[in-house]
Amino acid sequence: MRALCWHGKGDIRCDSVPDPKIEDARDVILKVSSCAICGSDLHLMDGQMPSMEAGDVLGHEFMGEVVEVGSPAHKLKKGDRVVVPFNINCGECRQCKLGNWACCTRSNRNGEMAAKVQGYPTAGLFGYSHLTGGYWGGQAEYVRVPMADVGPMKVPDGMTDEQALFLSDILPTGWQAAEHCDIKGGETIAVWGAGPVGLFAIKSAVMMGADRVIAIETVPKRKALAREAGATDIIDFTEEDVLDRISEITKGQGADGVIDCVGMEAHGTHGLMGVVSAVQETLTSMQRPYALEQMVMAVRPSGNISVPGVYAGPVPVNMSAIVQKGITIKTGQTHVKRYLDKLTKLIQDGSIDPTFLITHRSHDLSEGPDLYKTFRDKKDGCVKVVFSLS
Ligand SMILES: [Zn+2]
Ligand SMILES: [Zn+2]
Repeated sequence: MRALCWHGKGDIRCDSVPDPKIEDARDVILKVSSCAICGSDLHLMDGQMPSMEAGDVLGHEFMGEVVEVGSPAHKLKKGDRVVVPFNINCGECRQCKLGNWACCTRSNRNGEMAAKVQGYPTAGLFGYSHLTGGYWGGQAEYVRVPMADVGPMKVPDGMTDEQALFLSDILPTGWQAAEHCDIKGGETIAVWGAGPVGLFAIKSAVMMGADRVIAIETVPKRKALAREAGATDIIDFTEEDVLDRISEITKGQGADGVIDCVGMEAHGTHGLMGVVSAVQETLTSMQRPYALEQMVMAVRPSGNISVPGVYAGPVPVNMSAIVQKGITIKTGQTHVKRYLDKLTKLIQDGSIDPTFLITHRSHDLSEGPDLYKTFRDKKDGCVKVVFSLS
């Protein structure tokens, strides 16, 4: 089969690789009908995630048709059309039973490796390094889905691939990010980065009742989409001071909740953080959490910081400000399965149209390497790339 494979920093190729095979009774094999490139795939492309190996198949946002099942008694049947959460869930461990699906203790087959760097393992992920299990991903014609009796959701009749695909990650991720701000109605929420997750976080915050939603973004296409998602204010940090403007909007109170949809890719300017920034320019980009620095300052005392953005190592944070202000920080990979029923209903009743951010469509995985670069460089107004393979 053909698949998008990682071969080193900046080197993604469309390779011919062996078709996946059933390895366990709980597996299914999917024929991928649609898949997408995620912002966090760019961390892999840029070589910021350790434990990638040449030839690894990428992709954790995918859906498709079941073409093989591991056992005749499998909950899924041949022909079922399913969308698959990016984290793998055993359904039996304590974390799964608590609904902490992203923290499944049994699905990461390299859990010991993960425990060495983070204390305890978290769930296995598709196409996302050997630290998260080394599972082949779904930017491919076929994919093996382990523990497929738990994670995958059958797509309701009448729902298109483009409507369902983002249930695999970015839609629930944006929703959880907003939920982490504890929105009860009337709040001001500021979102750093109006990429795919940021846009869904904006949309979610609006739906949860936030009064003002501020997007911090510089790219024209993304600013326009942020407005479309419901942002009431846009701050372009190349044109104005983010902290001053948030203070002005909140009448000197600070934002009730701030959301980091940038993560370790954050790039700032020297002017923004003065000396601190100048020193940090000498560090690698993953050690420069510009967005996080600003968020710590911009949030009101007793406010919430929500971090869905990905980090791959220690970063300096202003603990003094966090403690003085009594900030709650909520983070984490998304417990996708927790949100599937609710978000599916919101798509079905028209409350959410997840397709609005798709800017690039392809029917051919061989265009993948170029589209990765287009997405990384935000060329041609690229916000989201979707491959439709059926
Ligand atoms: Zn993703
Ligand atoms: Zn589990």
